[in-house]
Amino acid sequence: MVTQHTDVLIIGAGLSGVGAACHLRREMPETTFTILEKRDTIGGTWDLFRYPGVRSDSDMYTLGYRFKPWPEQKAIADGPSILRYVKETAAEYDVERHIRYRHEVIAAEWSSDDAKWRVTAEHDGKKVEFTCNFLWSCSGYYDYENGYTPQFDGVEDFTGTVVHPQHWPSDLDYRGKRVIVIGSGATAVTLVPAMAMGDNAAEHVTMLQRSPTYIFTAPSQDPLANLLRKVLPEEAAYFLNRWRNILTQTGFYQLSRRRPQLVRRLLKRFTAKQLPPGYDVDRHFSPSYDPWDQRMCLVPDGDLFKAIRKGKVDIVTDHIDRFTEKGIRLRSGVELPADIIVTATGLKLLAFGGMTLAVDGKPVELSERMAYKGIMLSGVPNFAYILGYTNASWTLKADLACEYVCRVLRHMRDSGSKRCEPVPDPDVRPEPFIDLKSGYVLRSLDQLPKQGDRTPWRLRQNYLRDISALRHGRVADGVLTFSR
Ligand SMILES: Cc1cc2nc3c(=O)[nH]c(=O)nc-3n(C[C@H](O)[C@H](O)[C@H](O)COP(=O)(O)OP(=O)(O)OC[C@H]3O[C@@H](n4cnc5c(N)ncnc54)[C@H](O)[C@@H]3O)c2cc1C
Repeated sequence: MVTQHTDVLIIGAGLSGVGAACHLRREMPETTFTILEKRDTIGGTWDLFRYPGVRSDSDMYTLGYRFKPWPEQKAIADGPSILRYVKETAAEYDVERHIRYRHEVIAAEWSSDDAKWRVTAEHDGKKVEFTCNFLWSCSGYYDYENGYTPQFDGVEDFTGTVVHPQHWPSDLDYRGKRVIVIGSGATAVTLVPAMAMGDNAAEHVTMLQRSPTYIFTAPSQDPLANLLRKVLPEEAAYFLNRWRNILTQTGFYQLSRRRPQLVRRLLKRFTAKQLPPGYDVDRHFSPSYDPWDQRMCLVPDGDLFKAIRKGKVDIVTDHIDRFTEKGIRLRSGVELPADIIVTATGLKLLAFGGMTLAVDGKPVELSERMAYKGIMLSGVPNFAYILGYTNASWTLKADLACEYVCRVLRHMRDSGSKRCEPVPDPDVRPEPFIDLKSGYVLRSLDQLPKQGDRTPWRLRQNYLRDISALRHGRVADGVLTFSR
């Protein structure tokens, strides 16, 4: 078996992996790198998900890379436009020739004797080995093979079609059909208006939710942003649009956490205004939890509310008793008829693309490790990963993480270090890695590392604080240790 060596090995060619490679190109052009990608194409999430209406629920001024202005009119963009943007960025930085497709990383073992990672990937049924000085996981956060579907009684009795949005059949014809979408998250609120309106519209779509989610409306095209794009040079407009959104979103998040009752009231009032008079907003749009206990959902131009006003969409808040031959029976006894049932019931979280990690022959038990700055792991040398914010655009954190990893690599080069490693501190109290209370997070916490109760082990989920910690803070801070 021929072993190939590069300075850095990146796992995954999605938004983050391509971003990581571009940062290396920009900030450390002498560094050699390879990207191992298990699929046969670039783009990750933005290629995988093909359901009707697939789009971002963040604005593209913050979901876009800091170094590459978002070129389109729409701030809330559809999946294919985001994929195009990732591809264009990869082409601009000449990243594609470094990608090895159909290489699924299954194991990585650090050897202190060689100060190297030995990485095993599966390629067309064969094992292939790579070595690198620094391993960088950009493999996203969920299982690509399987979405999450709860056990529903009677699924086998249903004579229609059941679909999970992660595996959308390209030939699914829903025109004129009765559709039930189970779920209330970002995917459900995207799918429901997309299937209910337009040329291929379903006859009727029911969004069946166990409990409501906070939903807010934003314009898909931001008029001020587009005005700035017209009158200013591209980079300057992007900078201003990005910062305007960062500051507004950070402000809104902080207000939500400090004055939850106020934000609850505001959101309810705003939602009620977009619904027909007398609509039961309390039942269908007022969650029991506080704003931002779970990720909020955005609907561009109020498309979901428009579809409800037009009578094309119903929201039903109830529990499923079982699937029947003709649809779904609810605990209330009501039976909802359907030709197609879409289980928009979420993702299965998966850390580091499912690969196993070992250090000097000892397996790394993720639940026993602590995240350092949300970028590295305690006791795991020369290893970084990218995980975006849960309360803001993924790429804001991803870009900062990339800058930080480049700083670490530069420090290693300049100090002649072969190894860097966050050293655990027994005084730091472990806490759950992600502090959202969403089902998909709670289901997976035991398989994830922990965060700590203080800096630098705490995930701040705050871009402004992270700028100071990651862009300007000391790299050799006494916790991250370097050795030759
Ligand atoms: C439908 C949907 C909409 C979203 N919308 C938003 C949004 O609006 N705003 C936001 O901030 N976030 C959003 N997210 C989160 C989104 O995943 C991130 O914004 C971003 O796309 C993550 O990029 P990534 O490259 O880190 O991960 P991914 O896009 O998941 O890419 C990971 C890549 O790694 C590869 N890979 C995984 N495991 C391995 C392995 N073992 N070996 C080799 N390769 C591997 C995968 O094939 C994939 O190409 C959304 C997620 C989904 C599912």
